[in-house]
Amino acid sequence: MTDTADRTDTDVVAEVNAWLAENWDPDLTVAEWWSRLGDSGWAVPTWPVEWFGKGLSRAEGVRVQQAIADFGALPAPGGLGLMLAGPTIVVHGTEEQKKRYLRDIVTGQKAWCQLFSEPGAGSDLAGLQARAVKDGDEWIVTGQKVWTSGGHFADLGMLIARTDPDQPKHAGITYFAINMHQPGIEVRPLREMTGRSLFNEVFLTEARVPDDAVIGGLNNGWRVANTTLMFERTSLGAGGGNAAASLAAAGSVAGDLDRRAGDFVRSGCRRSGGVALGTSSKSLIKLAQGLGKSDDPSLRQKLVQLHTYGELARYNNLRQRAAAAAGKDIPGLPNIAKLSMSNIVRLARDLGLELAGGYGMLHAYDNESREALDEATGMPFLAGITETALFAQGPPIYGGTDQVQRNIIGERVLGLPKEPGFDKSTPFKELPKNG
Ligand SMILES: Cc1cc2nc3c(=O)[nH]c(=O)nc-3n(C[C@H](O)[C@H](O)[C@H](O)COP(=O)(O)OP(=O)(O)OC[C@H]3O[C@@H](n4cnc5c(N)ncnc54)[C@H](O)[C@@H]3O)c2cc1C
Repeated sequence: MTDTADRTDTDVVAEVNAWLAENWDPDLTVAEWWSRLGDSGWAVPTWPVEWFGKGLSRAEGVRVQQAIADFGALPAPGGLGLMLAGPTIVVHGTEEQKKRYLRDIVTGQKAWCQLFSEPGAGSDLAGLQARAVKDGDEWIVTGQKVWTSGGHFADLGMLIARTDPDQPKHAGITYFAINMHQPGIEVRPLREMTGRSLFNEVFLTEARVPDDAVIGGLNNGWRVANTTLMFERTSLGAGGGNAAASLAAAGSVAGDLDRRAGDFVRSGCRRSGGVALGTSSKSLIKLAQGLGKSDDPSLRQKLVQLHTYGELARYNNLRQRAAAAAGKDIPGLPNIAKLSMSNIVRLARDLGLELAGGYGMLHAYDNESREALDEATGMPFLAGITETALFAQGPPIYGGTDQVQRNIIGERVLGLPKEPGFDKSTPFKELPKNG
């Protein structure tokens, strides 16, 4: 293999293409294919070489993903295991934990969810009240989580719970990898206005998690959770706007692992129901041209604005890459990237609806009505537009709202005064509680 420092984008693409030519076989099951891809290092090429990666940069990783898609092979498993749990465990897990969890993540055998938010703790995440109490070699967890994306398909959860209420609120929190398949966990799907159930309420009633599933040490959960959030913001900002979606679903619950890998590629359908979510200026420009509206000056202005946002995001990515190569960091860049993604999603929503005109008021909730709508309107892309428009409220909220990103940039990057608060040294149990 070429040395990372000397490798060009062309080398990387040639290398992955050569590997795909040897290894992609549409007749494999999804599980077999993902095992092959995961063990080769091409599923997560940005991870360290010793842990299923190839030590590539983020930009090279994007080229690899694109090359796999261009080749017509099934891409790496999507979902929060690969996006959040895996990278967090790479940073904070023990060697034994890395051996226990990482292979199942990169090969899509197990799906993960993120058990962070609670009814009274979203932006103020450190105010969480789910508690974990030690019982021999195990912890007993009781509390409620909410907005748990993919909780109904998850095998494992990234759980943060309060383990020491005598400590100040950011200090007494611990991060666990909890088995979702147990009697103490009840997952209740929530229906969104898109018609889908992406996220859930999760009730933990004396659920059990072994002590050796504590990630990053006892009462160090706030630090570990921030690593997860940093990966979330960076990858959402890099365009993973609907990161929980993928061509086939990871994990033992969704039922895709035993299916033929080639069938997912041929259909080109997202598990979420076959609607491609489009926020790129390229696809909307094509659409405007197809509808004969590309001469409209007001639309052109907005299309250029969307293109400009996309280019700024790309340049920020390059800045990040250059800084990382020089062993430096640009404070606040993940927050800026996430904010910029929110702007892109909102503008794409408005543009899509403007292009669809009055038809944008019609949304199909299942495949049958989607076909009927296609026929009635003659606009096969309408479902993608309305789906994007209805889902567009989500990205500016998850992974930390726009306001929270601005607060972080203000306080940690610009050095503005912190929001007033009295919680730095007061034990959590003495603080007034939300909800
Ligand atoms: C599609 C989707 C998927 C999600 N998936 C997950 C998941 O898988 N796992 C998970 O744990 N969570 C998930 N979330 C939850 C998400 O992280 C929270 O919704 C988010 O952190 C906001 O918390 P909240 O909903 O409690 O709103 P609140 O914190 O109650 O905020 C309400 C409003 O007040 C504003 N606000 C709050 N505090 C401040 C402040 N200090 N300064 C200025 N403004 C403020 C907010 O910006 C917001 O506009 C998901 C959310 C969505 C929409």
